[in-house]
Amino acid sequence: MPASQKYANLILPLPLNKLFTYSIPAELEEMILPGSRVIVQFGKKKFYSAIVREIHEVKPIDYATKEIITAVDDLPIVPSHLFNFWEWISSYYMCSLGEVYKAALPAGLRLESETRIFENPQFDKSDISLSAREELILQIVKDKRITSINELMNLSKDKSTLHTIHNLIKKKYILAEETIRETFKPKIEKYYTLHSELNSEGKLQEIFTDLKKANKQLDLLMRYLQLAGKISFPDKKGLISLKKLQSSREFSAHALKSLVSKNILQQEEVVTGRLDLSPQEINIPKGLNEKQKIALKEIESEFLDKNTVLLHGVTGSGKTELYIQLIREQLKNDRQVLYLLPEIAITAQIINRLRQVFGEKVGIYHSKFPDSERVEVWNNLLKDDNSSYKVILGVRSAIFLPFQKLGLVIVDEEHENTFKQNDPAPRYHARDTAIVLAELMKAKCLLGTATPSIESYHNAITNKYGLVEIGERFGNLEMPEINLANMREARKKRQMKSIFTPQLLSQIQSTVEQGEQVILFQNRRGFAPYLECDTCGWIPYCKNCDVSLTYHKKGNQLTCHYCGFSTQVFSICKACENPGLSTKGFGTEKIEDELKIFFPKLHAVRMDLDSTRSRKSYEKIIDEFESGRANILVGTQMISKGLDFENVGLVGILNADNMLNFPDFRAHERSFQLMAQVSGRAGRKHRKGQVLIQTSNPDHPVVKMVRLNDYKSLYHLQITERKKFNYPPFCRLIEITLKHKNQALVETAAAELARSLIAVFNTRVLGPESPAIPKLLNLFQKRILLKLEKSLNIKKSKELTHNAIQNLLSKPGFRTVQVIPDVDPF
Ligand code: ADP
Ligand code: ZN
Ligand code: ZN
Repeated sequence: MPASQKYANLILPLPLNKLFTYSIPAELEEMILPGSRVIVQFGKKKFYSAIVREIHEVKPIDYATKEIITAVDDLPIVPSHLFNFWEWISSYYMCSLGEVYKAALPAGLRLESETRIFENPQFDKSDISLSAREELILQIVKDKRITSINELMNLSKDKSTLHTIHNLIKKKYILAEETIRETFKPKIEKYYTLHSELNSEGKLQEIFTDLKKANKQLDLLMRYLQLAGKISFPDKKGLISLKKLQSSREFSAHALKSLVSKNILQQEEVVTGRLDLSPQEINIPKGLNEKQKIALKEIESEFLDKNTVLLHGVTGSGKTELYIQLIREQLKNDRQVLYLLPEIAITAQIINRLRQVFGEKVGIYHSKFPDSERVEVWNNLLKDDNSSYKVILGVRSAIFLPFQKLGLVIVDEEHENTFKQNDPAPRYHARDTAIVLAELMKAKCLLGTATPSIESYHNAITNKYGLVEIGERFGNLEMPEINLANMREARKKRQMKSIFTPQLLSQIQSTVEQGEQVILFQNRRGFAPYLECDTCGWIPYCKNCDVSLTYHKKGNQLTCHYCGFSTQVFSICKACENPGLSTKGFGTEKIEDELKIFFPKLHAVRMDLDSTRSRKSYEKIIDEFESGRANILVGTQMISKGLDFENVGLVGILNADNMLNFPDFRAHERSFQLMAQVSGRAGRKHRKGQVLIQTSNPDHPVVKMVRLNDYKSLYHLQITERKKFNYPPFCRLIEITLKHKNQALVETAAAELARSLIAVFNTRVLGPESPAIPKLLNLFQKRILLKLEKSLNIKKSKELTHNAIQNLLSKPGFRTVQVIPDVDPF
């Protein structure tokens, strides 16, 4: 009797809310398991790698199934316990499983038609053999330089091509990147390490004897051992770059080749994204001080009956040292740790600190690193053996990694809004998702911050989370002294010098005279947020969006910070044709410029999105300031986290008011967090630092709270307001954005959707309204806000919302409207 036909339900990377059933060809049955990838055709022209969710024998009745073209993996690449997590995200954040799949896997693991691929530029191919088919595909990729999967499939006219591409990626011949944005080619360097079989003292002695007659090789080997720190730390992996070896006197290409061919040294290719892998300084274990010891005990005891603990410790209280201690405990018990940080806080400083303690056990998952690095981390964790990472330091998408024995998740800087993904779906909050992940994996979750989000602090004092607080800096270092400079008064008395109050100018002067450095903070990049005609008041706007264009002096450009549109500055007004457009307001570029006028002898560097387009420039700026070559660092919120400078005597906040006046229910919370975090950069090592805040509103309660470093008052003020106006944590928000290039259409669609939602939710529906930027990238937007009380069945509410949206989209006129639900919007 023939075996019965098997079917697989697949997750395709599409925004459709269902699984897709394909039949499994008999010859593939053994390879296809839940969690493994298969290649399928979808529609006429598109090919995808899909994930097998489950296998069954139920023939779908309402349509003819297509066959799976081929299997990709020998072993599943998504462990089945992750599916529960994916399903939670899909249901909580109202998106499809396919969208979760897209967010979860690095691009190289989920090829689809649009994925771009190219030849791995510096990969040495001599020792891996290719099949004829692989050679052919590789040749096409080489000829085309960069091509998309789709293009390639069309050229080669063969369904197995996608499979071949997967193989070539596995063998590292080609690399995949998701979008053009990332087309920079990863730089791959050759590194050398001692061959893995030579790690015993005795074997090394034998080699020394063998090499007695090969002087050059022996010299080079000795040099390697010295550079790698192997002499004092023999069990170190000790990767040394070719560059470094070449720069030593003992280098000879011939000797190196011989050492490799004799299996003494082993060559490894490292994408330089991985940062400093050279031997670290010797790690002196830091003992915790009394305060830290108490905090550690408290955390551990809170974890006995709570899954989540909030660690509220002022800047410089030594939270990182506590994390390290907690990580150690987990590793002792053979559990893994996920350490989440906001993107820009993952700097060489924190990486080195962890590498010093945990060495090769630490993996980095960073979106600035090439996709191939992320693939490597994924595969490394799948192996789940001695060589796999025990600690992952990562950005928000690291929550999707295939951990097998997760024991602890640390979410550092938990208040950061960059943990929330705004676009595309899934619009998840990595902190909240991390808490769920920890629960699913029977792990604990620690949230750390100096300035907790109102939600987390609320959860802590209402006993949902444990709460541990450290109110002092490590080593009894004092908190900085914060003073105010009244801009309104200075203006009245005509004392403002451009954008500076006299106080700020004189404090910059005296700080530098004392041999200390200055940080100046302004939450706006560019030279000026807008230009205005002196005669008629006309303001240049973006042609795609409803926002004014920011003036950038560099290149004399007007740029839209939302869509990137950019144009040369015009010399006459486009409305009244008079000459004379003046800059209004100021950003970091102008501060840098003005400093040249007031302090021509000082050297200032600027750190914002514009000056840090490449990672190199980012590191160069940090290095210039850290080494003391620059006296002043000017920056946006980029400078508020992850950086620990030793010699900063003064932090100046140039304008507190524009943060405070931002029209958003979190504006005050965020202003406090930003100002407190930036202030925390002052005086971290040697002595008490100074902070000067320029404001026209010195009596503003939030400014006062920043001055007194009084988080608790901020919390009470905010929580009272949130209660009064019914905002989170007293309700849940679902924001629904509708977009279309036709303004009238989007307005009718929004009105219609609102009507059907009101029929269900009554007064819980607000809007439709136009958001602060009504037109963005040529699409008109309308917004509906749902405020749902906590007692409502949230799952049911989301279903009803989803149905209302589907209902709208099923009407012929509205099919092309984009409707985007965002749960817990930020
Ligand atoms: P936070 O993360 O709370 O802002 P950090 O962990 O960066 O604080 O600590 C602030 C400074 O104090 C760092 O320079 C750190 O090296 C130092 N430090 C913290 N704890 C210890 C310790 N137990 N022993 C020695 N130095 C410490
Ligand atoms: Zn004009
Ligand atoms: Zn624009």
